[in-house]
This record gives sequence, structure tokens and C-alpha cells, in this order.
Amino acid sequence: MKVLLHEMSWPEAKEYFAKNDIAIVPVGSNEQHGPQNPLGTDHLIAKAIAEETAMRAGVLCLQVVPFGVSSHHRQLWGTIYVSPEVFNKYMKEVCLALQYYGIRKVVVVNGHGGNLASLSDLAREMREEGVFVSVFQWWPAAAKILPDLFDVEERKHASAEETSVNLALHPHLVDMSRAVDEKSRVHPVQAEGITLPLDTVDFSETGVWGKSTAASAEKGKEDFEAIVSELVRHVDLLRSAGVEDLVSKPKV
Ligand SMILES: [Zn+2]
Repeated sequence: MKVLLHEMSWPEAKEYFAKNDIAIVPVGSNEQHGPQNPLGTDHLIAKAIAEETAMRAGVLCLQVVPFGVSSHHRQLWGTIYVSPEVFNKYMKEVCLALQYYGIRKVVVVNGHGGNLASLSDLAREMREEGVFVSVFQWWPAAAKILPDLFDVEERKHASAEETSVNLALHPHLVDMSRAVDEKSRVHPVQAEGITLPLDTVDFSETGVWGKSTAASAEKGKEDFEAIVSELVRHVDLLRSAGVEDLVSKPKV
């Protein structure tokens, strides 16, 4: 059975939509990931997780949306970013197009933390439209499921965990001879409870936060397997959930 929408013909798509109300949409970003990782890291990993999950669960998967909310990485070259408003609107129209074909449940596989605020707004807005959107992020899932696989400094942006998943999925795109360990700087005005409008270059010279040299394909494979298993579990739960339990409730 085909699960990738862009590989189906329209009669094949019609057959899927006639019988199913669930779809997966991977999203990410195109942004710096240190000197060793490809700019596509966040959308390439999201795509791989989404497609593997779709295959195992027998659920439709769309093409990955590669550009996200990542202007905070722009000083490091090749970062292509859009505003939160444009990203939210674009994703909303993708969800509405799915709704036109009867989709009521959308699992967004998000590979980039900077997209989360916009996707959370999207999920709330779509619920009012009658579509239930859940957002999956692989790194908090992995930290919970496999807490000992990496330490805290290895679980930050472009550090060992992300590099390991890249090594497991597309090793030809990773240059470990350029991997670095860099302790991120603390801004002089930082204090507990304060959020500051800072960019990556305020914290890091290389774009790596923490330690990336401990990356390995073996750890990446273990991470990927655990992540996909957890997402398959969510997709199965969501597929069997009644729409009446998902749409927003009327006033009491
Ligand atoms: Zn990333």
C-alpha cells in the first residue's frame, strides 16, 4: 500500500480519503546545524520519522514542509526562514485542503522547536474548524524514553543527539571531522524567569550548543527506533479515537 500522497494517483488518493480520516504532515526548517550537519537537518529528520511511521501504521503522509520559523539562526549562512504568521497561515491552508477530502485528524511531525508556538496556535485554530491537530516533537520524546542515551549537553541544538540521528539516516551528509563541543555563552543580562529576544550567535560561535563529538550512528538508530515506535503508538490511539472526543466541546 502506498502511503506517500505525492506518489499516489488521484484515484488512489480518493480510495484512501474515502476510508480514512487521518494524515501525517512533517515540517521542519532549513537552518544551520553546526559545521558538521546539513542545513536540512530539521526537515530531513522530520520527514524520515513521518514516512517510517506512516509506513508502519498504514497512514497517509504528505511531503515535508521544509521552511520554518528560524530567523534566529540567520547570521549563520544558508538559513531560509519565514515569519510565524506566514508559517501558521500556510500550515492552516494545508490542513484545510486535507479537511476538504475528509481528514479530521492531522499529526504534525515537527523537527524544529522554533515552529512550536506557531503550530500550537494552528492546532487551537483548527480544532475550532473541526480538525484535531496533534504536534509531535521527537527530541522531548527521546529524552523521556531513553534518558540515559545522551547527557544534557549532548541533547541540545546540533549536538550529539541530532548529529547521531543524522548519522543513522543520511551519513553521507555529516562530516564528523568538523564536529565540535562548545559551551553556550550565558548572556550578561540573563536571570531566572527572563526571556530575551536573542539569536543563536549570541550564544554560540559554531552553531553547536553543547557537545557534538560523541555522536554515533548506533545511538542515532536506537533513538530513531524509539521515536518511531512512540509515534506509531500515538497514531494508533488517534486513529481509534472518536471525533466527538477530539473536537471542542459546546458550552455547558
Ligand atoms: Zn535541529
